[in-house]
Amino acid sequence: MPIPVPNFDNAGFWEGCRQHELRIQRCTACGALRHPPRPMCPHCGGVDSDWMRASGRGSVFSFTIVHGPTLPVFQAQAPYNVVVVQLDEGPYIVSNLVDCRAEQIRIGVKVEVVFEGVDGTMSLPRFRVTAKEGA
Ligand SMILES: [Zn+2]
Repeated sequence: MPIPVPNFDNAGFWEGCRQHELRIQRCTACGALRHPPRPMCPHCGGVDSDWMRASGRGSVFSFTIVHGPTLPVFQAQAPYNVVVVQLDEGPYIVSNLVDCRAEQIRIGVKVEVVFEGVDGTMSLPRFRVTAKEGA
């Protein structure tokens, strides 16, 4: 599995993941939240930002099931899901649902973040259906 390589803009996000915190970039000029991390605020053009700890909760906005062909490194995992989660704070994040069969995935289902360690130094944010939804 390829490991994300943090850069200047997203290092705070990945550091949060290492600490099992989902962090969202926040413009310090206008307060707008944005994801994925980038250098400039799309709302006001501000270039200064900080990080807020998100709740980790959201809902499935869209999804697909990848059957392949896909990149060789992911082929053995197919079929797998790719979801767009709208966080309760507003921004969208692309991820996967874990512990969930494809036929269980629905638009609007409530989800919460879980972190999966991948190499001892990096954790990836994934999501699972909240216990209340799964009951
Ligand atoms: Zn702004």
